[in-house]
Amino acid sequence: MKTLTPEQKRFLLSTIRDVPDFPKPGIIFKDITTLLNNAEAFTLLMDHLEARYKEYDLDFIAGIESRGFIFGAALASRLGIGFVPVRKKGKLPYTTVSEKYSLEYGFDEIEIHIDAFRGSGKRVLLIDDLIATGGTAEAAAKLIKKVNEELVEACFIINLKFLEGEKRLSPHTKIYSVLEIA
Ligand code: AMP
Repeated sequence: MKTLTPEQKRFLLSTIRDVPDFPKPGIIFKDITTLLNNAEAFTLLMDHLEARYKEYDLDFIAGIESRGFIFGAALASRLGIGFVPVRKKGKLPYTTVSEKYSLEYGFDEIEIHIDAFRGSGKRVLLIDDLIATGGTAEAAAKLIKKVNEELVEACFIINLKFLEGEKRLSPHTKIYSVLEIA
């Protein structure tokens, strides 16, 4: 189903566990392991993503480490296309392109293989489990454009709307979030 009903969205949200004060005090961590281990929820979510993206004529899905790998690889396999990991610095073995981004305190850096998309001009979808401030996704979007130019859309299972990550990411690409938390 290309569009989820409000009831289906409520069901998916009910399978995501809130873990207060993880990884540090004041953060409510959205734990998607309880969605993944619920076969009905995981299948509903993947059916929805497959129905939405099968019409996009995509060439690759790029997933952000590490929960973006789970949804991204499953979707790529369903669509019969390739999967590309966007990883934390120092994890990818071949020649990489990297991008630094700011965190609450300090900086982090992510990387992609220089030849990840087997040439340029490919139709790429970026995916992660969650967008918060948008810093990670913005850096990933910049990386994809560095090595490929085209980024069709960025997809998130959960959007923490109150952190306004969309503002940061929207100059770089279109955004789709399955579930929104106001
Ligand atoms: P940001 O760069 O602020 O948009 O943070 C997004 C990244 O951090 C994603 O890879 C998320 O998996 C993770 N993240 C940030 N906040 C949360 C949260 N409240 N619950 C779960 N994951 C989070």
